[in-house]
Amino acid sequence: MTARETEWISIPMTVDVPYRFAAGRYLTKTLTQLRDNGRIFAVECPRCRRIQLPPRIVCAQCHVRNGRWVELPLEGTLVAFTIMFLPLTDPTTGKPHEPPFVYGSVRLDGCDSVLDHLIHAEPDRGKVWVGMRCRVVLRPPGERVGDLSDIVHFEPLPDQSRPGS
Ligand SMILES: [Zn+2]
Repeated sequence: MTARETEWISIPMTVDVPYRFAAGRYLTKTLTQLRDNGRIFAVECPRCRRIQLPPRIVCAQCHVRNGRWVELPLEGTLVAFTIMFLPLTDPTTGKPHEPPFVYGSVRLDGCDSVLDHLIHAEPDRGKVWVGMRCRVVLRPPGERVGDLSDIVHFEPLPDQSRPGS
């Protein structure tokens, strides 16, 4: 049998791995604000001034304690993305997202780190681009649970088009 004729067998299975971790004081503050008020808070390093989200108690570069909280706007820029053609299991629900869909990294305005999340855009390379402006879409108040799934996805801001199109 040649390599071209090799049969590849796929074994579907469902793996149920319940997992719980302590979010810690800083991430708890961010998740509580997200859940209760629909606001996103990050921390600023007093030395290098990086705005970090998720918030970290200590700046990984300067090794000093982050103490100043900064509210971020609910808009940002897509800095990387992929179009997924395989299901991706959502860690907060354990359920797969049906492909194709867009998954990407969004840098909220003023932040130095990114959030990786679903991008509610047509999974078409002609309609998604690095630099696309996006906004956070939250679960409705009262339905939020206090984890990153309170951000349902990012969606493109209206009235923009891919540069060069
Ligand atoms: Zn720093």
